[in-house]
Amino acid sequence: MISSLGFGYPVELISKRRPFSIKPTILRPDRISHSGRGRNTYISIFMEERESTRKPNASRNGGRGAGGRIGKGAPYGTSRRSILKKSFSQEQVVFTAPLSDEPHVAIIGAGMAGLICALTLEKRGIQSTVFDTGIHGLGGRMGTRVIEPQPLIFDHAAQFFTVSDPRFKELVDDWIGKGLVREWNGLIGTLEAGGHFDPIPSSPPRYIASNGMRRLADSILSERHMINVLNPCWISKLEPFNGMWDLFENGKPRGRFDTIVIAHNGKCANRLLSLSGLPLIARQMKRLELSSIWALLAAFEDPLPIQEAPFEGAFVKGVDTLSWMANNTRKLFPAQKHGPHCWTFFSTAAFGKRNKVPQENVPNVTAEKVREGMLGGVEIALGLLEGSLQRPFYSRLQLWGAALPTNSPGIPCIFDPQGRAGICGDWLLGSSLEAAALSGMALAHHIADYVVSGGAPPDEFAIGLHSEFRPIDGHDIGQFPGLESQEHVAPVSQTSI
Ligand SMILES: Cc1cc2nc3c(=O)[nH]c(=O)nc-3n(C[C@H](O)[C@H](O)[C@H](O)COP(=O)(O)OP(=O)(O)OC[C@H]3O[C@@H](n4cnc5c(N)ncnc54)[C@H](O)[C@@H]3O)c2cc1C
Repeated sequence: MISSLGFGYPVELISKRRPFSIKPTILRPDRISHSGRGRNTYISIFMEERESTRKPNASRNGGRGAGGRIGKGAPYGTSRRSILKKSFSQEQVVFTAPLSDEPHVAIIGAGMAGLICALTLEKRGIQSTVFDTGIHGLGGRMGTRVIEPQPLIFDHAAQFFTVSDPRFKELVDDWIGKGLVREWNGLIGTLEAGGHFDPIPSSPPRYIASNGMRRLADSILSERHMINVLNPCWISKLEPFNGMWDLFENGKPRGRFDTIVIAHNGKCANRLLSLSGLPLIARQMKRLELSSIWALLAAFEDPLPIQEAPFEGAFVKGVDTLSWMANNTRKLFPAQKHGPHCWTFFSTAAFGKRNKVPQENVPNVTAEKVREGMLGGVEIALGLLEGSLQRPFYSRLQLWGAALPTNSPGIPCIFDPQGRAGICGDWLLGSSLEAAALSGMALAHHIADYVVSGGAPPDEFAIGLHSEFRPIDGHDIGQFPGLESQEHVAPVSQTSI
């Protein structure tokens, strides 16, 4: 939706959550796979009979999952009620049939956590299918907007990252080797209201995705053989049946899986989990608190009048409406000497909270207030006279309604072995790309170890189901382990599970 807000700036309002009017996918191989990574064998799963016509023992595993009994109850699938235990507000699913030694895992969400979970599962010899709502690509909060025809390019959530954990370093080194990631050597620092700039030392190294964050996300699973990717696809329902999980998108079956991974959070995850039969997981997810951040992407004809030092990125201090600003053109195309200057501005979490509206339907009056407030914040931060900032010839406003976690259980992942379901995501360890990657990796190893254990007693593999949450610290746009500007931020846990 493009709306003119009466100030001469065209502002395009978009929402993070896609409008879920995704065309129902016809399950052809080319739709199942992203970039030709699919395996036709998977089609048969989608083609299975609907629930009403299924025979309990006719699962793709030759019935191995069908005979599970819960206590003295009936086999799973003949009577759902008989295999569910009342717990909290919903009944707990308990799978008792042995887990396949060749399980197929569904990963719901292809942000950093879901992608690394899939990658690690493949390294451990386990196949997965990754579902994501992304229309233009994968990555979730690793978003990049490319505005044609010029093009104007903006990273519109994650801006850069640091590396503190050797396991994450290994991934990053691989991406550097492939040209997907490189160091960002541009000047970054802290910008005080009025224009005073303090540089942040160049160590530890700061990394960016060479062609924007989304391109990195889209490339992480390329040339994989045990991973299917299905997008755009919004998983709207999870249903246990016959010792396995059936996934649905608006009533349409999207496959049957041995284990599920929830690799997203927020309202969408709460809704998905509310009737899933996973009350412990649902309860942990509900404890998560998230900030809201406004992002303003703005392209200017001329360089911004930066007084003290020609910085490319700055954490803004002392300005109510602004927490970060970065020149994405300089960051992504340092050799480019001419052309427009694409800036990403983020609000503070406090401003986001005060101006929170339904992100699917941002009222024009709010958009106008937010945009003006943020551009006014740029003037204050740079020490410019009110009204003197040049007008962007393009701008786009977006609310990240579920932006960053403000509390965390501080564990790498959550896994419920009774329901054969787990959660990964940044919020389990912190609020950074590194935290998300480590969480995805941890859950994948946990699931693989569970498979290898050959059905160890569930308690041995339960993790994080009762962990307490604590507030987490960091910048309004997350944590950057090792960066000098945030000594107060707890480093990402190196806990291994
Ligand atoms: C404004 C902003 C700035 C940030 N800046 C930085 C930064 O500079 N450096 C840094 O390290 N971190 C930064 N972060 C944090 C970083 O982006 C996140 O920590 C990280 O991307 C989280 O990854 P994730 O996989 O946990 O979740 P997400 O990236 O949120 O991925 C979840 C995915 O699941 C999908 N999904 C949701 N529901 C469903 C469903 N029902 N079916 C299918 N798919 C579904 C979503 O569309 C999404 O793609 C920033 C975040 C924000 C909001």
